[in-house]
Amino acid sequence: MEKTKIILDENEMPKKWYNILPDLPTPLEPPLNPRTKEPLKPEELEPIFAKELLRQELSSKRYINIPKEVLEVYKLWRPSPLYRAHMLEKTLKTPAKIYYKYEGVSPSGSHKSNTSIAQAYYNMKEGTERITSETGAGQWGSALALACNSFEIECKVYMVRSSFYQKPYRKSLMNIWGAKVVPSPSSETEFGRQILKKEPDTPGTLGIAISEAVEDAISHENTKYALGSVLNHVVLHQTVIGSESKKQLEQEERYPDIVIGCCGGGSNLGGIGLEYVRDKLKGKQEPRIIAVEPSSCPTLTKGEYRYDYGDTAEITPMLKMYTLGHTHVPPSIHAGGLRYHGDSPIISKLHAEGLIEAKAYGQKEVFEAAVRFARTEGIVPAPESSHAIRCAIEEALKCKAEGEEKVLLFNLSGHGHFDMSAYDKYFQNEIA
Ligand SMILES: *Cc1c(COP(=O)(O)O)cnc(C)c1O
Repeated sequence: MEKTKIILDENEMPKKWYNILPDLPTPLEPPLNPRTKEPLKPEELEPIFAKELLRQELSSKRYINIPKEVLEVYKLWRPSPLYRAHMLEKTLKTPAKIYYKYEGVSPSGSHKSNTSIAQAYYNMKEGTERITSETGAGQWGSALALACNSFEIECKVYMVRSSFYQKPYRKSLMNIWGAKVVPSPSSETEFGRQILKKEPDTPGTLGIAISEAVEDAISHENTKYALGSVLNHVVLHQTVIGSESKKQLEQEERYPDIVIGCCGGGSNLGGIGLEYVRDKLKGKQEPRIIAVEPSSCPTLTKGEYRYDYGDTAEITPMLKMYTLGHTHVPPSIHAGGLRYHGDSPIISKLHAEGLIEAKAYGQKEVFEAAVRFARTEGIVPAPESSHAIRCAIEEALKCKAEGEEKVLLFNLSGHGHFDMSAYDKYFQNEIA
């Protein structure tokens, strides 16, 4: 009988992260100093990031060892299961074999803990006593709160205002792990006060919250800033997802024809996909890799590939990436984690080089897919992850139409247990 869960033993957990930088077809364009527009020297970022994370950001080493203290914490939920979606396949009547890697088993409920644990660890090693960050939907804030708690670091989270009120229990979760949470824009930073004065009713954006968190880190002693997506070191830490999935699929004697991930800043897509991109670059395999985004924040599908700021206040370095413009205010959709104006430079480069594809879907069709998934596979997916589900279903139906037995792999980046009000709205027909 075919398996439903493919489980690895704890000692089969990857001991290294895969760094794609040395394998890229052309090198990444360097980050620029936001004032001078000159390439940034890594030292310029030392006031905000731990040194080891900056080394990883530019590293040319293909594999980077995962510290044993990080592996110890990873073991709380890793290796994560790979599921074969038998029930979903059956209702779709598709000959495709659908697999999904489930990252919702982490204590914070998403893949974000893979990097938060690593970031908090290196900060602790370097003597950081306090970390600031932003959170949109709350998954990154929760993951960082958990990680700071693991390594006894204070944690302060600027939470995008619309989510702060839409998802109060995400805040409670962060409080349980000891973090302080304020709605952004807040009156606690110069930039926050400026925005509040101009637009007292703004729903907030990730760009604004990033500006506040960075300002806070710069203006406080022994405080560093942490980012939950976009940067190379963040994508690096997520590659455990893809490495595990490869071992798991090998046990099934399968290799994916299509690898799918939702894409906000690009970290879970990079996490599941980069090992497969590597095979493609080596000419070993020809998998298609698909990034899925919301049609209301279509960074890869409609954005421009150019240098832009990471935040609204223009204090972060400029990155070469697909962007909708750093002052863009995307509508408050329920997949808050996909509401960022930019994208990872690595993912952007791969997209520009034609190595990965991108697709966008509307909210309603994404929720349809989410409910279909919950009613077959049982798991209630995060609205973000449901973008990947939507795409997987579409590809599975194409296989049915064409009678093809393709192997599909998607990343189920998180559960949707804190997204019940979004599901309620969907059932009340309030989602357009
Ligand atoms: C944050 C988040 C995303 C989007 O971020 P990426 O960096 O693109 O992965 C997707 N899914 C979940 C569950 C998230 O928490």
